[in-house]
Amino acid sequence: MNRVLVLIIAGGCIFLPPIVYAEIVAVDSLEWIVCDSDVIVRGVVANVESKNVSGWPARIVTVDIKQVLKGSKKSQGTQVKFIVVPSGNRPPDWFVDRQEHLFFLVGNDRYLELSSLYPLALRDPDYKFDNPLLLNDDPNNAMFDMDFNVVKGRRQILDAVSQAVKRSPTKKPPRAMVNVPWDSQIYKQLWGGSGVSLDVPADGRLERRAKVWLRAENIETRLLGAMALSYFNTPANIALLKSLQNDPGYWTGQDDKGTRRREFPVRRSAFEILTQWNITVETPVLSQISLWHVIVYYWPEVLGTLCTVSVLPAILMFWRWRRYRGLEPGEPHCRNCRYALTGNPDASKCPECGAKLAEKKVIVGKRVGTIWPLVMVFLALSMVVGYGAMHVLGVERVNDASALLDWYCTPFWE
Ligand SMILES: [Zn+2]
Repeated sequence: MNRVLVLIIAGGCIFLPPIVYAEIVAVDSLEWIVCDSDVIVRGVVANVESKNVSGWPARIVTVDIKQVLKGSKKSQGTQVKFIVVPSGNRPPDWFVDRQEHLFFLVGNDRYLELSSLYPLALRDPDYKFDNPLLLNDDPNNAMFDMDFNVVKGRRQILDAVSQAVKRSPTKKPPRAMVNVPWDSQIYKQLWGGSGVSLDVPADGRLERRAKVWLRAENIETRLLGAMALSYFNTPANIALLKSLQNDPGYWTGQDDKGTRRREFPVRRSAFEILTQWNITVETPVLSQISLWHVIVYYWPEVLGTLCTVSVLPAILMFWRWRRYRGLEPGEPHCRNCRYALTGNPDASKCPECGAKLAEKKVIVGKRVGTIWPLVMVFLALSMVVGYGAMHVLGVERVNDASALLDWYCTPFWE
């Protein structure tokens, strides 16, 4: 994108509500703003001059310097000039309010089209941060530091910026992004529905914090530590990430199938970083699933199958019981009247009812229990009644029984 256009969009953001991407609020940390700015001055706007730059209505702002917090000897004079392209017709308040502000400026290599005209420009005001920052004790004029604290109040902001300038490395570090913990001041102030992320310098300060975070009790902080380590590929950190493959922390969640899962986020994060670094490690257990929940979810299928499986033998056993009950096992009987034919002298007809045995044949008794067929029929009936009742009562796939037991195992089928 055209750099002038970027500058204009950024300039417009100063007076707009925070930019929210899918409700994730992204914000620059105080430390990153300090690293990323070439010149930081405290001062009051003395003059604003309109200038047409490549067709854009730019302004050349002159500031009376009260203090230089960061910058070369060149900016140590009594005034500094920089370029800004404000959006909209209304000039921003800070052009005319004669209030003391903190100005974060960048060198002329940032916006190529403007560079030939003036050596400095107002740094991109990022999201939830106003540049220039009005220096008063209004809590809305705040900066956000790497410890996830909201820095507010004129004195506190100036102290924090001076400290950050002293501690910032001479060479500008790369930018890192960390997720802001939910219990921090920043999160509480900026939360917009989903998450808050903070841009920080990827330097020794972040690496030291990462190692402190990794020793934390709660999973979220350890996860933060693992993710922050991804910016520092060193042998010591590789060993540290390998040790995280056994991290015990897990989150329990339930998916739409009622399957309760354990996810091991620290292990997963460490594993992904090592993989990105082309370090070969065995895949650790990243996720576990509760078999019990799977079974409960499929109760209609499981119970339906059990019904079918029990009703068929019950019918067969009942039929067999009706057919052979009362007959002597192994002995022939008349099929018509069930008379015992053992020792019958006339083999052609039944002595009791006279039925022709050649046509109707005889029936040979078989041993049938009296209890088991009844038990089987009773079981099958209760199964069918129970299955039907659960449907009638509208028992959901995910129900109270889902929470009764936990049988965790690694999902080998995934
Ligand atoms: Zn007979």
